[in-house]
Amino acid sequence: MARYSDAVCRLCRREGMKLYLKGERCFKEKCSFETRKGKIPGQHGAGKTKKPTGYSLQLREKQKVKRIYGVLEKQFRLYFEKAESKKGQTGHNLLAFLEQRLDNVVYRLGFAASRAAARQMVMHGHILVNGKRVDIPSYQTKAGQSVELSERSKANDFVKSSVETAAGRGIPKWLTLDAAAFKGQVIAAPTREDVPLDINEQLIVELYSK
Ligand code: SF4
Repeated sequence: MARYSDAVCRLCRREGMKLYLKGERCFKEKCSFETRKGKIPGQHGAGKTKKPTGYSLQLREKQKVKRIYGVLEKQFRLYFEKAESKKGQTGHNLLAFLEQRLDNVVYRLGFAASRAAARQMVMHGHILVNGKRVDIPSYQTKAGQSVELSERSKANDFVKSSVETAAGRGIPKWLTLDAAAFKGQVIAAPTREDVPLDINEQLIVELYSK
């Protein structure tokens, strides 16, 4: 499976916002978005200051969302098509589909410090959905399903500290967590208010609707 493998902190500086791609480091002073504020990456980064066009704003918004959720273009387009064919606002549907990905749910529950780490955990068989192992990061969770760690992962110190840290940051209201049992529950589909991202999803809709 193709994946972005370059330095991810560049992506935050490119998009001009923190995308939270590196787990705990993102919340510390050494976050390179903070230490190198305003510096666009690349040899000609300093020269990239021209006024953005409507198209470039739409493109950047799409890139931000793709990078936050770690989804490549083809798959992102499929999410958009699904969102468009579903009742309701396309932009909200799109974010809801992305939020309900199993790797994102694992991240939101705090079982992993970043979505990339959550994806690894899913692929390595550490996650059970309704008691059954699921190793597909893009698996769409549904209301009523439980998401929990496998027995061998519950003893992992790194996972334990990650769950404690995430519990301190709060769990979104469409999920519940029994931290002691390392078990979460999807209780509803996420609404736009449940997605704490500074994103204008309407720009993505406009981009794909051209
Ligand atoms: Fe982005 Fe996190 Fe790197 Fe900061 S530490 S630049 S938020 S990925």
